Amino acid sequence: MDYQFNEAFAKKADELDPLKNYRNEFFIPQREGQDTIYFTGNSLGLQPRKAKDALQQELDDWARYGVEGHFEAKKPWFAYHEFFTDSLAKLVGAKSTEVVAMNGLTTNLHLLMVSFYQPTKNRFKILCEGKAFPSDQYALESQVRFHGYNPADAIVELFPREGEHTIRTEDVLAKINELGDTLALVMIGGVNYYTGQLWDMKTITKAGHDVGAMVGWDLAHAAGNIPMQLHDWDVDFAAWCSYKYLNSGPGSISGIFIHEKHCQNKELVRFAGWWGHDKDTRFLMEKGFNPMPTAEAWQLSNAPVLAMAVHRVSLDLFDEVGMNTLRKKALKLTGYLEFIIDEISNSKDSVNFEIITPRNPDERGCQLSILAHGQGKSLFDHLTKHGVIADWREPNVIRIAPVPMYNSFYDVYRFGKILEQAL
Ligand SMILES: *Cc1c(COP(=O)(O)O)cnc(C)c1O
Repeated sequence: MDYQFNEAFAKKADELDPLKNYRNEFFIPQREGQDTIYFTGNSLGLQPRKAKDALQQELDDWARYGVEGHFEAKKPWFAYHEFFTDSLAKLVGAKSTEVVAMNGLTTNLHLLMVSFYQPTKNRFKILCEGKAFPSDQYALESQVRFHGYNPADAIVELFPREGEHTIRTEDVLAKINELGDTLALVMIGGVNYYTGQLWDMKTITKAGHDVGAMVGWDLAHAAGNIPMQLHDWDVDFAAWCSYKYLNSGPGSISGIFIHEKHCQNKELVRFAGWWGHDKDTRFLMEKGFNPMPTAEAWQLSNAPVLAMAVHRVSLDLFDEVGMNTLRKKALKLTGYLEFIIDEISNSKDSVNFEIITPRNPDERGCQLSILAHGQGKSLFDHLTKHGVIADWREPNVIRIAPVPMYNSFYDVYRFGKILEQAL
């Protein structure tokens, strides 16, 4: 695309955007009677307009039927989680038997590590990214301690080279080979929450397997952001949340992927609950856990229908659009943001914005993280005051995510104008 930093260009690009009408499917937060420039869909996605009706439907069915809603509800609660599998499978490139919606993300990371982090005296190390999202750090540390190891010995963190902001795949592969048969697990965020770096999941997964390790991905910032092929990439497990790019509401349900080769292994250690038991005999309420031969075996509890009702509505939009179409727009939209930031940064000597997200579009999702050299928090406060909802990380990084499902080229243009005024 031949970008231009002017209103006419932005409006024309919106006109030509095949996804332009999806913006109307969402509530855009308002400030002073105007749409805000909402660039934090990577933190909390916007509310689909159909969310309320979907939730109301479940409340009505509950009021009308009480417990019989398990079978009588419009979408019977008994098998509620099954209404999600096909959509989730498409979303992450899996078979429908390899995915399920359950629990919260960190809860799921723990449940998955129970199965896929089984350290032995020689093989007990976990390779992860340095400065991982705190919840992931705590989960990894506590898992290591749970097994009686010391996190300082067991957890190996990857860092960028001196003077760089993101981590090179070659460095990950070298570290995996160096750790060799001491490496039990590789667990990294598929898209790093801070830098926006998208990892080469396929290559890293293969390298982990080559030394005999398990490989899992935290897809909190990848699900609904980039197309994936978890099954074909032979990923062992993954988990994500649904409230960021997947627009399913604060704290809403997580999703997991478990490769079918593990699903069919009934001997695999896991923490079990009744909703993971073979569904044909679940209600015999008998002793002896018999796992489903699918990712559903990792479920503990019956489905939280109220939270999931909103997730269903949101996934309908992803089903309609498809990740490949979404990605096409994301490449243009994020490219436009990058272009505008560079234009502004190059326009004045006193301004230096460094984009720390990879410049190669194949190595990022829709988020850009900007290091605002010499610009303090006052810049960010100016943006907020003028209706930009972005995210500030100390000491001076601004994270912005134009989300292809509902953000427009005009949003990006307006953002550029406000940023320019601030300087
Ligand atoms: C958002 C996010 C979380 C949040 O965890 P919850 O259990 O959903 O609160 C965890 N890890 C990463 C990488 C995240 O981006």
